[in-house]
Amino acid sequence: MSTHDIALICANGHLINSASTNKPEYNTDFCQECGAKTSNRCESCGADIQGAEISFHDFGNRRRKVILESKVPNYCHKCGMPYPWTEIAIQAALEYVDELELAEDEKIELKQSVRELTKNTPAIQVAALRFKRITMKAGSTTASAMRDILVEVLSEAAKKAIWPTS
Ligand SMILES: [Zn+2]
Ligand SMILES: [Zn+2]
Repeated sequence: MSTHDIALICANGHLINSASTNKPEYNTDFCQECGAKTSNRCESCGADIQGAEISFHDFGNRRRKVILESKVPNYCHKCGMPYPWTEIAIQAALEYVDELELAEDEKIELKQSVRELTKNTPAIQVAALRFKRITMKAGSTTASAMRDILVEVLSEAAKKAIWPTS
């Protein structure tokens, strides 16, 4: 049996503390990396942000609590809305796409694939192909800039599909 602790994360998506009730000594009101306010709730529905996995294991005759750190989630497990950091990264990527020298329909395709790549769904494979094709066409600077903007919010499957070696 395991339960989840509540994560404390800043508005830009920096993980402050994935076990905010078990290790409250690491909680802060503001982020030390970017200065943004920290929060432990979904802005849309108020649900706690799911954090570290807490489980209990028996070692000999002693029962020990094991805290398994979690990563920053993109979407709320309760209402399905993107968290602020997910939306910030998506919007930054979309604005970047608008500045590129691409045909309008390519921009639209690229924007759709960006949003899809933050979700862990079967649509990722197609979205990854489109993303690769269009960003490569726009040049290597574009490809690496898009990577920097999105790397924290892309799903693991998306990263594997786009950058198989990393
Ligand atoms: Zn931050
Ligand atoms: Zn929610």
